[in-house]
Amino acid sequence: MIIAIDGPAGSGKSTIAKLVAKDMGLVYLDTGAMYRLVTLKALNEGILGNDGLNELDKIKKLLDDLNIDIRENRFYLDDADVSEEIRKPVVSENVSDVAAIREVREKMVDLQRKFSESKNVILDGRDIGTVVFPNADLKIFLVADAKERAKRRYRELIEKGENVEIEEIYENILKRDKIDSTRKESPLKKAKDAVEVDTTSKSIEEVKNEILRMVNSNI
Ligand code: C5P
Repeated sequence: MIIAIDGPAGSGKSTIAKLVAKDMGLVYLDTGAMYRLVTLKALNEGILGNDGLNELDKIKKLLDDLNIDIRENRFYLDDADVSEEIRKPVVSENVSDVAAIREVREKMVDLQRKFSESKNVILDGRDIGTVVFPNADLKIFLVADAKERAKRRYRELIEKGENVEIEEIYENILKRDKIDSTRKESPLKKAKDAVEVDTTSKSIEEVKNEILRMVNSNI
């Protein structure tokens, strides 16, 4: 079984996907984290932000010997656990530009399909229901008001001890929404057969139960 959860940043995808996975005994794959791993690698190599035209070539090259791994919801880059590092604001600032590169997407989509082979999986991302698994058993599209999404992200980061301003997060969310939904390659959009759920004024429990009901009536 494949369940696809797509939607913009902060709409609740990963929180809900994790809970549904636990409840239903599914494997969970956070595909956004994969794009964050590539972005972190590019940042570590000093490729992003200062290399103009050569940047694209260097990122494409970096894909050839990219060493990433995902085990039990922990994310590894070159064998180091970078699960916390990939959530840092500097990665969020750059990830949408990296995720817009066709070659990056091809590689990530390929890995996502391989990872999901002969498993019952719930994946969250931007293009799961449209591109990665257009035949998914269930497609959910989560949305929420941008101010509410910024508040959620802010609380998450503050809890982790990050020193952030809510305005910066709000701006980053708007910027990522724009890049993600207007890019040429696999833009963020609701699949025709996806069910839209607005999480703005719903509790996590309410959204989880709503989705569990859909999953159960789908089996
Ligand atoms: O889900 P998260 O906010 O961590 O994703 C980070 C970024 O990765 C998104 O803003 C988007 O640019 C990219 N992404 C994507 N396709 C996916 C998942 C994430 O382009 N399936």
